[in-house]
Amino acid sequence: MIDNMKNIEFLNKLSNILIKKISPAVTTGEINKLFINFLGIEDTEFVIWDNNNMLLKNFAQDLKIFDDKNQSNENNYIYTNLAVSGGVKFYFNETEFDCGLKDDEFFAIAQLTDEINNIIFPLVSNGEVFGLMKITSLKQEFTVEFFELLNIASKLISGAIINYILNEQMEISLNFYKAMKDIAKIIESQYELSYIIPLIGEMIDRFITSHLIYIFVYKDNKYNLVWPNACRDEQVYKLLDKINDKTEFILSDNSQIGVFPIVNEENILGAIVAYSNIEKLLQKDIDYLLQLTRQSGLTIQRANVYAEVLKYATLDALTGLNNRRQFEIRLKQEVANSKRNNIPLCCMMVDVDYFKKVNDTYGHAAGDCVLKNVAGVIKNEIREYDIACRYGGEEFFIILPRTNIQEAILVAQRLRKVIEESKMNIKEADIEGISHLKVTASIGVCEYDSSLTAPSFAQKADRALYEAKASGRNRVIVV
Ligand code: GH3
Ligand code: MG
Ligand code: MG
Repeated sequence: MIDNMKNIEFLNKLSNILIKKISPAVTTGEINKLFINFLGIEDTEFVIWDNNNMLLKNFAQDLKIFDDKNQSNENNYIYTNLAVSGGVKFYFNETEFDCGLKDDEFFAIAQLTDEINNIIFPLVSNGEVFGLMKITSLKQEFTVEFFELLNIASKLISGAIINYILNEQMEISLNFYKAMKDIAKIIESQYELSYIIPLIGEMIDRFITSHLIYIFVYKDNKYNLVWPNACRDEQVYKLLDKINDKTEFILSDNSQIGVFPIVNEENILGAIVAYSNIEKLLQKDIDYLLQLTRQSGLTIQRANVYAEVLKYATLDALTGLNNRRQFEIRLKQEVANSKRNNIPLCCMMVDVDYFKKVNDTYGHAAGDCVLKNVAGVIKNEIREYDIACRYGGEEFFIILPRTNIQEAILVAQRLRKVIEESKMNIKEADIEGISHLKVTASIGVCEYDSSLTAPSFAQKADRALYEAKASGRNRVIVV
């Protein structure tokens, strides 16, 4: 029974530290200070058992303080024993103590020597020890009251630490589902695997930080690496050879490599591989990877189905402008026409400035909204018989038949200004508190002359655009 005023004050102060939502480092630092000042002890340390990694780590610094290669210091000795045996025996006043449950009570263990006293209290949640609070004290005499106070303190701290851990886990899953939702949204209007697969790769990377991620697409009876550019580990290819359409996933013998086949009903479409030569794959990573491969399967299947449709399509699915293939066809026609009839022809290339930043800051769904808006502005600013195309990513080409360079420059300048002044509506991306964005674009303009082929004409506009970028962006350059 704690009734001493000083002890109650101690518990009040401790609780006030614990209810603040701050980082483990700050919290444990404040606790340490309180213990030193109030209880006259030397030091505290908080160690938690990381179930996923099967090791003990320092709660404050997130440092792994236990691994079997490093058992040299005294702390490691204590924790190692505890980790290996699932409980450790200590001798206190010649009495043997186990750490853990005894008669349904958790109790402290103490290690006393002539120089130093370590008392270790288990941190407990749901009847399980998940960590330890270690108190180092030079005090020789431990009173029952002192133990009792520390025991209460360890319970309060247990609650706070568990709360922190759960919160963190919840946040990770929330972010995970949000990222999954974003990806699902993006692929609604994107069919280019070359664009989608890096997005999926980057997203998996964000959640499986301990492993390298590879994405393979199965084509022509073999696995082709599509993200990132190289995978030289032979073991990966050996594991890939083992999978079939019934395989859920395969782990290497040491659990460091995981191969997750991407399948639709009857075919293998590819595989996602998580690779490390140090760390094992954890259950939570496996769960993420299973969901992600499922999602990737749908995406790749959809892209494959659409590949047929896209073969005949002339429009870009996201913006509704002409697609790149159609651009090439139309450019050739217009070049031939200009040459034959000796009528002026211009073209311009438009590229959104710092577009990567939009994606990185607001997500790809917001980036897509911006692209749709820019396409809308372009359509509005050109004449009926001008030909607007989405060339790729955030790059647009506009072919201006029967237009001389002076007129083309006017169009480009007007377009640049309207883009700069427009509020791009990104409501569809569903970002809390942000409904509009502003962007600028750089434009390269050029006029056709009969020495040019269609491709070299387009290259000329590209060169002008390059100069517009190099000289500061948000401008029109003519070559
Ligand atoms: P700069 O001013 O030099 O043009 O910089 P930038 O960031 O606009 O250019 P960069 O070429 O580095 O980045 C273009 C980005 O556009 C990278 C790519 O992921 C992204 N992107 C390509 N296609 C799409 C798409 O369909 N939707 C979205 N949201 N982003 C895309
Ligand atoms: Mg750009
Ligand atoms: Mg670009």
